[in-house]
Amino acid sequence: MNNIQKILELYCGDNPLRKNLHQPFQQGDHVFASDGHTLIRVPASRVPVQYAIQDKPSNIAANHFRPADIATPVTLKELTERIDEVPKIPEMEDIGECLPCSECDGDGQVVWEYRHWEKEFDCPECDGTGYSDEATFKETGKTVPDMNHTITLHGFKFKAEYIIRLSLTMLLLKTDAATMKSHSVHTFKDGVCFSLTEYVDVLIKPLLTSENVINN
Ligand SMILES: [Zn+2]
Repeated sequence: MNNIQKILELYCGDNPLRKNLHQPFQQGDHVFASDGHTLIRVPASRVPVQYAIQDKPSNIAANHFRPADIATPVTLKELTERIDEVPKIPEMEDIGECLPCSECDGDGQVVWEYRHWEKEFDCPECDGTGYSDEATFKETGKTVPDMNHTITLHGFKFKAEYIIRLSLTMLLLKTDAATMKSHSVHTFKDGVCFSLTEYVDVLIKPLLTSENVINN
């Protein structure tokens, strides 16, 4: 897998209700990948593999890459400094999958009682599997930046997770300077576009702030 494929994979979603976003896809002459909050586009000519052509979500280029009128330079160094300011929290590891279900004690069956009748049926909590699929986390002993923290960049607030992913993308592209493109009249629908090279654009939805709510 080359770096462009790795980068596209970073932006895929895992929402079970949006299966069309689980892998990169081609629309028009670009390949896109999105988790619903961030969106990357790369010209198909730069991508070494053919991804499935998808028309949903429709008209991505026109709907999400509206020409911007403000261009602000941002550097990897600046992003790294903002990321370093994010408070650290204990790193958690998901150990959920194989824990026994707490409702049926791992049995998979529960007993329904009514007066003197008893009937066994599949545990509704775990669907009869006996295992809890609820994510259960354990501390690893390391610390990591709090992904839900807010990072402010040139007046826009972003979830730290997305800026960390952006900096990782710049590292993979071996670029240390980007252009942040925004709109002087910013609407709720608009993302902020980071042009990382002349062919890789990443769109990130900023968090709502009182200023950009008033602008709408
Ligand atoms: Zn159960």
